[in-house]
Parts: sequence; C-alpha cells; structure tokens
Amino acid sequence: MDGDPVSSPAANIAIRVTGSAERALREGHPWVFADAIRKQSRSGQPGDLAVVFDRKGRFLAVGLYDPGSLIRVRVLQHLRPATIDRAWFVQRIARSVEARRSWFGSDTTGYRLVHGGSDGLPGLVVDRYDGTLVVKLYSMAWLRYLDDLQTAILQVMHAERIVLRLSRIVARQSARGIGAARPMDGSILSGAGLDRPVVFAENGLKFEVDPVRGHKTGFYLDQRENRKIVEGMSNGLDVLNVFAYTGAFSVYAARGGARSAVSIDASRPALAVAERNFALNLDVPAVRACAHSTAAADAFDALVGLAESRKLFDLVVLDPPSFTSRRASIANALAAYGHLVRLGLRVLRVGGTLVMASCSSQVGGDQFFRTVHETAFEVGRRLCEIARTGHASDHPIGFRESEYLKCLFARAD
Ligand code: SAH
Repeated sequence: MDGDPVSSPAANIAIRVTGSAERALREGHPWVFADAIRKQSRSGQPGDLAVVFDRKGRFLAVGLYDPGSLIRVRVLQHLRPATIDRAWFVQRIARSVEARRSWFGSDTTGYRLVHGGSDGLPGLVVDRYDGTLVVKLYSMAWLRYLDDLQTAILQVMHAERIVLRLSRIVARQSARGIGAARPMDGSILSGAGLDRPVVFAENGLKFEVDPVRGHKTGFYLDQRENRKIVEGMSNGLDVLNVFAYTGAFSVYAARGGARSAVSIDASRPALAVAERNFALNLDVPAVRACAHSTAAADAFDALVGLAESRKLFDLVVLDPPSFTSRRASIANALAAYGHLVRLGLRVLRVGGTLVMASCSSQVGGDQFFRTVHETAFEVGRRLCEIARTGHASDHPIGFRESEYLKCLFARAD
C-alpha cells in the first residue's frame, strides 16, 4: 500500500501548518494542534481525512480531523501517503497486536493491544480482558470508522465480544449529536452482552473487571509492572494501599507474603470488587494468609485518621487519580502530591517503603520526583530511591505527551 496516493484527494481537507508543527510531524509526532494550522482548504466534519502538506506542497501526513478537539488532526500516517481503508486498519492493528504476542503468556490475559498514538492510532485504545476486547475512543473522529475498526480487529484476533467505551468528552459530544443514532459509552459492538463481570489473569492472579462501567476500560493495566515490584517487596509487611480502586496492589502484596493489607478508596463499589478479587485468589496460600481490610473514605481524611490513631505501616502505596488536566494547575497538582507524601510518611515506619505514583501527564517526571523528595526532606525524612518506573511495556512511549505515569519506590529513613 505504501506509495499509493491518498484516496479521492478532492474529498480530503488540505492543511498547511506552522514551521514548528512541520518539524514535529517530520519527527513522527501524531498530533496537529488547532493553533498550528495556518491554512485549511475547507471546514470539516469529525473523521474527515486531513492531509498536511509542507511549505513546498509535499505530503507530510494524513490523519483524522476533529473540529471539536484542540488536537485538530490525529495523524495516522507520516511522510508516505497511504490509502486509509479497512486494509490499512488491519495492518496497523496487526502490527500492534503482533508486537505484544511474545510478551504475555497464558498467565496474563489482560493487557493493552493498541496504545493510541504510540501504536500509530492516536485517540484509539484497545484493551484485552481475556475474551473481551474494549475499544475506547478519545476523539469523535473515530466514530465514523467503528465498523472498519471492528472488522479489522476481528480479522486480527479472536474475541468473544467487543465493548465500546467513550472518553468523557466524546460521550458528551456524541450525546449532543443530531441525526444518525450515535453509539453509547458501554455499548456492545459485537458478541453477546455481559451479564456478569469479566475475570482475567494478570501475572497468574485473577481479577474481576467491569469493562462497561469501570474506570478507563475497567482496570489500571498501566500499573501491572509496578504491582509486581510491590509483590516482590511485601513479604511479612503491613501494607497500606491508598487510592486502591479494585485492590490490585493489595492482592499482589498479599501474594508476596504481606501480613496485612488495607485498601482505601472513595468508591465503595470499587472496594467491593477488591474484596471479590481477594476471594478469587484464595487458592494462593499467601493471599489466604493475608489479613485484608477495606475502608471507603476520602484518602486525605483517612490518612489523617490513621496518623492520629498512631497506626503505622511498612509499605505505603499512594496512587492518586490525575490531579491536573490543564497546564495552569500543575502547581496545584504538585502541592497535592506534596500534601499526600506528607500524610503518607506520617503512617510509614522508619525504614519503610513509599510507593508514590503520578498519572498526570502535564506533570513532568523531574518535577514530580523533586516534589516527593523535597516534601520528605521538609518533614525530616530522607528518601533513598529504590526505583523510578513508568507504565507497563504494553503502554509504549511513542511521543513526549504519551509518557504520563511516574512511580517512585523509595525507602524512607
Ligand atoms: N491503584 C489502583 C488505581 C487507582 S485509580 C489500581 O492499581 O488499580 C485512582 C482511584 O482513586 C480511583 O479508584 C478513585 O475512586 C480513587 N479516588 C479518587 N479521589 C479519591 C479521594 N479523594 N479519596 C479516595 N479515593 C479517591
């Protein structure tokens, strides 16, 4: 297909961009921001193909146009023209799926198959939970290609069902749409409906997931490798898991030999799943032996409460939700991380391990790690780093903005 001209060029939107956007595209960046567009042949609808030309009129990129997003074009193909059709989707999805085939055996049946722009499909995520695939859209532009996507996915791999999830913004924009019926967040694109939660395996542990209503696509797959590190550190320890969601860090700590694990989250339903996730793994003697408890509470309040009752732990995991979605609030996010570290350290024994994560993509790694260290220093604790990590391997980093998860493992003296 490479080298073929873009199909029906007249129907496409022709776009010229600023010099710096041109450079970014040459380097393979998958986004064109609205404010980088200098000229545009016509206005467009979500999902129209946009072709970006350089200042000499040569082809630079082709992508999906989205007038409702600041990321105006999500680039599917750089530098070499291509026909964007079902066959193109098949080869792109196959490339992504193939890359992961050697990474996961039968003990891990939940992982990310397509990680957006880092896998050449910006705005699109496909996650696997055993026989269920979840397609998540982060741009209205993808709605037009749902049939193609679904057919392409099923051509590349077997699935009992495909569930559609929409980002909050896309769900809102889609609901506002007039005319043709728009698919809903959580709808089943193919296969049988879900009458019970899906159970999948991660590193040999079983987890329940609700792909229709759960956070993201149902589970925080990006923390898989960090959970494994926690498992390897937990033998004999009292572990506190704050922002626990469905308790995955706690289950790993339990298998690693933790004496006790406390899971705290604001969501009662998530904690009910955490209990069931322990129950699912009772065949593992160490999980059976671990005393697990949950507390539905605001994390900040709960940490203050634990500190006031002089409760201490040997390992504290703090995995808060993203604290920022706009540049303007980076300072607030850093302040919130600092506050959390202060509270977390109050319940961490001297010599204990702090595991502190940030999934705010706007907060850079350097800023985040510095804030954690400075805060610890301010409260008279010294952190000795064990590891700095990011997201799991099935969430590759193909461009700067796709590097979002940062995690610090440190001994707190
Ligand atoms: N560690 C989890 C993922 C955490 S996601 C895992 O490995 O699966 C962030 C979690 O924080 C969500 O479950 C959300 O319900 C919870 N949360 C958000 N704000 C909170 C708050 N103020 N107090 C307690 N929990 C909160």
